[in-house]
Amino acid sequence: MPTPRAATPRRYADINAVVGGLLRDLAYVQTSPQRVFGYKRAAGAVLSLERPLTELRRSNGTLDKIPGIGPASSRVILEVLDMGTSPTVERTIELSGRAEEIHARRALRTHFLSRAEVLRILSDAAFDGPCAEDYHGDLQMHSEWSDGSPTLDEIVEACVARGYRFAAVTDHSYGLKIAGGMSMDTATDQWRAIDRLNATASGRFRLIRGIEANIGTDGALDLSADEAAQFELVLAAPHSRLRKIDDQTGRLLAAIRTPHVHVLAHPRGRISGSRAGVMARWDEVFAEAAHCGVAIEIDGDPARQDLDHTLATQALAAGCLFALDSDAHTTLQLRYAETALAHARLAGIPPDRIVNCWPTERLLEWLEKARYKPDTTRPR
Ligand SMILES: [Zn+2]
Repeated sequence: MPTPRAATPRRYADINAVVGGLLRDLAYVQTSPQRVFGYKRAAGAVLSLERPLTELRRSNGTLDKIPGIGPASSRVILEVLDMGTSPTVERTIELSGRAEEIHARRALRTHFLSRAEVLRILSDAAFDGPCAEDYHGDLQMHSEWSDGSPTLDEIVEACVARGYRFAAVTDHSYGLKIAGGMSMDTATDQWRAIDRLNATASGRFRLIRGIEANIGTDGALDLSADEAAQFELVLAAPHSRLRKIDDQTGRLLAAIRTPHVHVLAHPRGRISGSRAGVMARWDEVFAEAAHCGVAIEIDGDPARQDLDHTLATQALAAGCLFALDSDAHTTLQLRYAETALAHARLAGIPPDRIVNCWPTERLLEWLEKARYKPDTTRPR
């Protein structure tokens, strides 16, 4: 039985998410590139604010200065603070003749949290689930070896500064050319660099040799079994057919059953306001992942938030393990792990079900064991 909650957790309208969405709508219907840019920048500024807009209103009714927010965006913010909606935005959309497209885009913004709401959820003791202190390391990030920017040294330094005990570098594998996927030769060089760093850290921090493998349309990975076996951690993630409405349960089941796969990463491949990602019978996907011991990822990239807390609740009921990751491409983006933690708190996932919350030794043992799937590849 789960321990009873201290109090009923509070959910508020995430006002920064509402305003950020409206500013994106405005950007979408502009015809001048400067205005598109201006509203997009304003939306990004609001979504990444650390405090809710309700706290930034002065007693005289005006707003505190927010970097990146001009007068037109301020007006939208004040309307939403006063009325819960923005007549200015709705009128502009109406006049643009693109209302239908905007409605379709709005449907693709469900269950996304703003940065301010993430921080509020992390500090609200009424939620079950992992706290920031339970989180010992991040298992998806990208370095200069594929499409990320940091060096491995910078990654180690930033992760140690965040108090992590381990982290996995998971650059793209060679099948994903568009993201600078690594050849196996390059991967071999990266492992040497990782081994050197681990030797220097002498047990205080452990960098894990990971890879983000691409799930093809048929569910096969872009790595052979022999190649996958050489990485300590294999994430499998879909990067194609993410705008189709046909059922892709079989594709995900095949990836989950593949030997050496540890984590189903950003399981849908959705992007806020842009695409819904893979459609699947999630109850079957989660049941198979639980059976095979494959962890389901909550990807904390603010544009992904994939899984979100509603699907994570289903995965929890199915008995799944979870990986909560940043999917960072810069060291600053390591904070995206907090978005994943917030969804895990909303879903009430116990830390014991989250591989990032385990001690390093337990995690490494699981990485070793979880390579083998029940009934198929486990040595007897
Ligand atoms: Zn990916």
